[in-house]
Amino acid sequence: MIEDGKVVSVHYTLKNDAGEQLDASGSEPLAYLHGAQNIVPGLERKLTGRKVGDKVDVVVDPGDGYGMRDPRAVQDVPRAAFPPDAPIEVGAAFVVETPTGELMQLHITAITKGPDGAELVRCDANHPLAGERLHFAVEIVEVRDATDEERVHGHVHGAGGHHH
Ligand code: ZN
Repeated sequence: MIEDGKVVSVHYTLKNDAGEQLDASGSEPLAYLHGAQNIVPGLERKLTGRKVGDKVDVVVDPGDGYGMRDPRAVQDVPRAAFPPDAPIEVGAAFVVETPTGELMQLHITAITKGPDGAELVRCDANHPLAGERLHFAVEIVEVRDATDEERVHGHVHGAGGHHH
């Protein structure tokens, strides 16, 4: 049965409200460590107590998923502030270090021109799925005890997990 400290392997699809598929497991199931915040809280909670073979449909509101969109996390940055050879295009993602030393992932969502004609790069620190209601269809393939090392690391090792 699924509980904290179990490694859970699932096949899943993720769709938005419009029914468009956003993500899915590949030929191999995804493995995650239950109770370690490897997956969004709204999904993790609904999988607690389930067992191998269960098929679960879960709808997760943004607050229990990737959070609400924060308009303050969107900023137009002059193209000239980037290295000349940086691959600046809509959809590109990159990691920056904030003044407080945290790493933050940004996505480029638009490239516009400012009043002076200079190119502006719209950088969005929101998760790409922030503000989306998430529709998961999950099939539980395997449940096993986590190893001590996996518990310490807070993630799964081996098939479907981290390799390091
Ligand atoms: Zn590890």
